Amino acid sequence: MRRRLRPPDVPELAIRLRALEEIWRGQRLDSDPLLFPHRYGRPEDREAAAFLASSLAFGRVASINASLERLFAALGPQPAATLREAAGDVRGLEGFVHRWVDAGSLRPFLRSVGETLRAEGSLGALFASGDEGGPDFVPALDRFFSVLRERTAVPARRFPRGLRFLLPTPGDGSACKRAHLFLRWTVRSGDVDLGLWRGPGLAASRLLLPMDTHVHRISRYLGLTARPAADLRASREATGWLSKIEPLDPVRFDWALSRLGILAECVRDPRRSLCDGCAVRPVCRASTPSGRPPVPSRATGAFPA
Ligand code: SF4
Repeated sequence: MRRRLRPPDVPELAIRLRALEEIWRGQRLDSDPLLFPHRYGRPEDREAAAFLASSLAFGRVASINASLERLFAALGPQPAATLREAAGDVRGLEGFVHRWVDAGSLRPFLRSVGETLRAEGSLGALFASGDEGGPDFVPALDRFFSVLRERTAVPARRFPRGLRFLLPTPGDGSACKRAHLFLRWTVRSGDVDLGLWRGPGLAASRLLLPMDTHVHRISRYLGLTARPAADLRASREATGWLSKIEPLDPVRFDWALSRLGILAECVRDPRRSLCDGCAVRPVCRASTPSGRPPVPSRATGAFPA
């Protein structure tokens, strides 16, 4: 018989998450690629920088920062204008490599962004034109990336791996953390987020938790999901629980939760995590009095009570 996931104690979880949020509010922007769009004053530059920075937000923090420093040095002080005018031929990016994204993938990606800035005026205008409503933004993201893929001028059958990765299909069931991170930055306002996109449908209540391996693991510790994979269903499940705490702004806790993983306060082996000072410890299923990690259920993936 399958064991059911013990649901989180929502009132207690709310208290603990709010305490965690207070600790990390506005702190350690240096640990996040969101630092890059914050460098610009004009909204069009912030938007373009946010899309590029979130798109390359995978791998180690030092490596992400080095790649983004190089990219933004090439784009100059007004990245949106450079992208609009360069038609994909941005100078200074010869030999660029970030993990499996090389210059051969980056160039058509930048071309598609520049083409969009010329055609619609902003990435937000393209996104809004494909948003038909619904509980979250996944269908709108699919339409957004579909148009960008067309604008690369690369035939679909010849898309290199890096370009497929930069222009994903969020509706296919993967978590697409980078796309949802971009939406958190642009749609949500307050704290560190940019709040660039405004409009009747562009509500923070429709955002999904950007789920990378750290956030997925911590979500499991808190009982927000039992899914073994960091996928779209796990992100929707975890966001659903957070919506019970903050229906209008469920991903407001993402900054604090992700700091635990990014800054190695909470690591895969709970014996090496900084549990003693952790604000969510009373609701964390991975922190035991013995300090030994509990074994999740084989059937459900849930941690024991
Ligand atoms: S209590 Fe420990 S294991 Fe649980 S989230 Fe905090 S640091 Fe991680």
